[in-house]
Formats: sequence, C-alpha cells, structure tokens
Amino acid sequence: MKEELNPFKISQAQLDSAAEIMNLDKAAHAMLREPMRTLTVNIPARMRDGTTKTFTGFRVQYNDARGPCKGGIRYHPAENIDTVKALSAWMTWKCSLANIPYGGAKGGIICDTKSMNDTELENVSRGYIRSIGRFIGPDKDVPAPDVYTTPQIMAWMMDEYSKMVGHNEFGVITGKPLEIWGSEGRGDSTAMGGMFVMREAVKNMKMDVKKAKIAVQGFGNAGMYAFGLSKRLFRSKVVAVSDSQGGIYVEGGIDYDKLVEVKKKAGTVQAYPGAEKITNEKLLELGVDVLIPAALENQITAANADRIKAKLVLELANGPVTPDADAILFEKGIVDLPDFLVNSGGVIGSYFEWAQNISGYYWTADDVYGKLDTIMTKSYKSVADTQKQYAGKGKKISPRMAAYIVAVSRVAAAMKTRGWY
Ligand code: GLU
Repeated sequence: MKEELNPFKISQAQLDSAAEIMNLDKAAHAMLREPMRTLTVNIPARMRDGTTKTFTGFRVQYNDARGPCKGGIRYHPAENIDTVKALSAWMTWKCSLANIPYGGAKGGIICDTKSMNDTELENVSRGYIRSIGRFIGPDKDVPAPDVYTTPQIMAWMMDEYSKMVGHNEFGVITGKPLEIWGSEGRGDSTAMGGMFVMREAVKNMKMDVKKAKIAVQGFGNAGMYAFGLSKRLFRSKVVAVSDSQGGIYVEGGIDYDKLVEVKKKAGTVQAYPGAEKITNEKLLELGVDVLIPAALENQITAANADRIKAKLVLELANGPVTPDADAILFEKGIVDLPDFLVNSGGVIGSYFEWAQNISGYYWTADDVYGKLDTIMTKSYKSVADTQKQYAGKGKKISPRMAAYIVAVSRVAAAMKTRGWY
C-alpha cells in the first residue's frame, strides 16, 4: 500500500491537523493517535470439502472513554490491520460527533465471501466470535455489520456469543435480523442519516434538493438505499450510479426500481438498458450537484481531486477522500462533508437497537427515523456552527476539521474527567 494511501496514516494525519487547530493537550493527543487495544486472531474453520482452513481476523478497540467500543466487522480479501485501525479511529470520532454513549472499534477478517458458501461463512463467523468473545460484550465492545457482512452473519455471531456466556445476549451485537430483536429501520439507517445531512447541507447552500442532480458511486447497502431514498424523500434525480464492475450515466435520470431489477438479474448496474457506460473514475468527475461516494476508501485522491466538479460531496463510504484531495476540494470551494458525519446513521441505528435490547422495550420505525433525524440534524449543525465559530476568529476550516474538533474535544474531555491525563 502506498504510504500516502495507508488509511491509518491518513487518520493520524487528520487527527494531527485537528489537534493543532484546537490546541489539543499533548498527552491527550498521544493517547488518541494509537488504538487502546489491537487483536489479531487465527480462526480455523471447516470448509465444504472437509478440510480446515485458517483465516486471519482482527478486532481493534480504539478508545472507550465515552462508553463501550462500537463498530462493524468487514469481510474482505484485502483486509489488513492498518485499515481496521483507521476505521476504529473513525468510529471513535463518529460516535462522539453523534454524541452517543460509545467509544470506537472495528473488526475484519481476510476472506472472499464471493467464493464461500453459507456453511463456510457460518463456520468462519462463529470461529471469529470464539476467538474474540472474551473481549466483547454489551458493555465492553459491540460489533455490527460492515462491508460484506450481513444481518444473518450478525445472528450467527450473537448465537455463538450467547452459547459462550450461557444466556441470550441480544445486546452484544447490532444489525441483527428483526426475528432476534434487530431494530426497525436499522437496514437503511446509514443511507437515511446521509439523506438528512444532504437535506440540511443543500438548504444551507441555498440549493433546491428536489432539483439536485446526484451521482452515486457504489450500489451496496449504503449506495442502493441512498439512491432509493433520495428519490422517495426528495424526488431528486440520480443521473449516474456504479458498482465494482463499472457505472452508467443517464442524462434524464435512472429509474430506481428498474435498476434494482436489472442488478438482481444481471449482477451489474451496467446491464441497465439505454444507459451510457462509464467507469467508476469518470462517475466521480461528473458535473453533478451532489456526489455520493458510497463504495470503498481512497476514491478521491490527489490524482483526480482537481477534476471533481460536484458542488457537494457526501461521504457515505468510510475514508473515500484522502487528505491531499481534501485540501484540493476545499481550495476549489467544494463542500466535502466527512464520512464520520454523513454515514453516522448506521451506528446511530445500532445504538437504538442496543438501547432496545438492553431495556427490552421496542420502538416503531417512525420512532427510529424521527430520533435519527434529530441526531443527524444536530450533528450537521454542530459542524456548521464550529466552522462559523472559527471563521469568526479569522480561520477558515473544512467541515472535516470542524467535525474532528467537535468529536475530539468530547473524547478528550471524557478522558480528562476520568483522570486519564
Ligand atoms: N459499520 C457501520 C459504520 O461504519 C456501523 C457500525 C455500527 O453500527 O456499529 O459506521
């Protein structure tokens, strides 16, 4: 991995910049530059042909000053410890910015889910929980889904953990299916939260959300729902969308229901009839109002940031914009709203699920979306207000730096009050 694209180095560089602007205490800064605990585990799992294969898994608990660690688990062939460390730092800032009572964590397993059947997936998932089980729990560390992990995988994991501790522990993991007390609204809460932020940002930029032209990179859980919701909530027009195989562009707008059908049948959005085929790179460079990167990290870098034409970039993926690119976008006057604000709806939905699990009292979807809207709107405002506050002192800062300042000061305050420095 190129040094400047190493996500952990990126997360540290972002923290360093924020620390300088906010004049963060040196001891707090040093504590927050590294994770509190890093686990690497070897997971033996039985394969369909009877052989046993060993998988490598990670769980990084970044900081728990404000509450139990919280964050998803990714299954990816290119998973590595530095990516997991970075993502666990971003979870810490995400939970703090949302002001929910959690620290941050992240997990991952090096595996290719596309080549595994359900039994193999189940064996690896249960094995992972047996390996990290004693380090997690509803008041220690609460995992959740992320890239290529599903509610079914969360169900197996919750079941395995419950067997280990000898009783049902629904609150140990979130993103579960509804049958075992997942939450209403959790499935699309990441995208829904992103849409509430888009509504507020577009309003602030004096644009009309109904007339906004949107491009979405990625058609997984986040991207697909963001597309569907932008149409359902605001009737905005999505003109471009992509998946890992490439993208499409339709000047007059893409029909969501038709696209879902095409993707299901053909396995790629490029089979959409009558569309111009474009690459993932080209999609990022379209002259749209809102660009939503909803795939993987490091999509907008120093190499292409100059060619970005969108007015607003909504980072629904984790880490899609590198710091070099960040500076270029800021210079160009493009509003780039950071991942740990835009995609925090996922973990906020998880928080609601966990709160319901530990209290045993269950809410309706309307309760969930209403409370989500309140938190997202407040988070967006705290970022916008912090930018204004610094501008008032003659210092122009990006939305990402403003979000860092809000998040890091809360974690630092908790550490200080607890007597950690
Ligand atoms: N994986 C999601 C994220 O990156 C959700 C994490 C969670 O719900 O704990 O925010």
